Amino acid sequence: MAEGAAELSEPGGTQAGAGAPSGRVNLLGLARTELEGFCAGLGSRPFRARQLMNWLYKRGCDRFEDMSDLARAFRSELAARAEIAVPRILTTQRAADGTCKWLLAGGAGQAFEMVYIPEPDRGTLCISSQVGCALDCAFCSTAQQGFNRNLSTAEIVGQVWLANHELGSGPGSVSGSGSAFGRGSAFGRGSAFGRGSARIVSNVVLMGMGEPLANYRNVLPALRIFLDDLGFDLSRRRVTLSTSGLVPQIYRLAQDINVALAVSLHAPDDALRSELVPINRRHPIAELLAACWHYIDEQNGRSVTFEYVMLDGVNDSPAQARALARLLAAHPAKVNLIPFNPFPGTSFRRSSEGAIQRFRDELIRGGVIATIRRTRGEDIDAACGQLVGRVKDRTVVRLGSKMAAATRRRAAQGAVRTSAPGRTAPRSHGA
Ligand code: SF4
Repeated sequence: MAEGAAELSEPGGTQAGAGAPSGRVNLLGLARTELEGFCAGLGSRPFRARQLMNWLYKRGCDRFEDMSDLARAFRSELAARAEIAVPRILTTQRAADGTCKWLLAGGAGQAFEMVYIPEPDRGTLCISSQVGCALDCAFCSTAQQGFNRNLSTAEIVGQVWLANHELGSGPGSVSGSGSAFGRGSAFGRGSAFGRGSARIVSNVVLMGMGEPLANYRNVLPALRIFLDDLGFDLSRRRVTLSTSGLVPQIYRLAQDINVALAVSLHAPDDALRSELVPINRRHPIAELLAACWHYIDEQNGRSVTFEYVMLDGVNDSPAQARALARLLAAHPAKVNLIPFNPFPGTSFRRSSEGAIQRFRDELIRGGVIATIRRTRGEDIDAACGQLVGRVKDRTVVRLGSKMAAATRRRAAQGAVRTSAPGRTAPRSHGA
């Protein structure tokens, strides 16, 4: 709550925190039962909560006075006691390929980013879960910014609300009047997201700034609103949570919700992965994969998508592809190869097209489904791994250096080796 209050104290913008200096409750991000409780507190019956969710998530309405099927007295009560606050847009950039990136105010001079990627059959919104990230992955530009804070549920849900609002506000729409999303647009009157493939945002991926499972408390309710038929009503296969491998939280997720799971793997062996993704020193590959297969079993899922950023001379050899295939071939797994997107200060280089294709072919020969992700939004730095926002680093100790120090301590005690023979070392690390 303190975080939300800090957000709302930023001058000049309506922020999606959990509370407000005025004492009004932000309805965006409240679970269905919480909204029912809120309505009950105002003396209204539970069906009012359903009506409110319809206005919020189906029609994109952010003004109580426009909610015409609510009694006038109830609307006045809502206006006095509640608000619908979304993150404030600082900048909007559009790439030549139609990709759109927004910088959103995070309070106290902080900012985070979200990216919309249009494709013929879908519209994918990549959202953030934290301002910055503490996990310190070596190839990630967000990691270079450090970590400031977790986003609130309202700020996470608010990104999807906002993208629909911005993208549906074409000529003839009522954008700015606080009424229905996409009215007068191609997406159908009164419907937030249109239907089927015509939805503006058909897919949501938590792959922006931050490690979503490190903000479990706020991410889980947001996921529930994405799936809720009174919320954004997205199919569970169209909501993807991407993690760098927080194993205990993957087990917890398996108890709590069924969404598509993606895991940032990036290396076929622990020695290299520990350098690229420092959390691997705490949760090595075998432990991580066991958690993934458990998730699939528990949730009756189809497969886990493993993301693998292609770094020239680091993790892109045919031998490494074969090692990766041996790890995954017997399991419900897909590999998504991501050409590295360079950012200032990195000494990693993108693997050549030929190397990426050879890597994919080796994986397929080894019995693993593998695809190469098409890079989008490069001209506005909106491609994978390029989101930076504006982060005042409050990280006490970078995870990479902290875990490297722990490994060195254990090595000095003779418990572990610090490197594996024959491994190709990355040329640069974020730590
Ligand atoms: S790759 Fe993800 S988990 Fe790793 S530092 Fe970047 S944002 Fe954090």
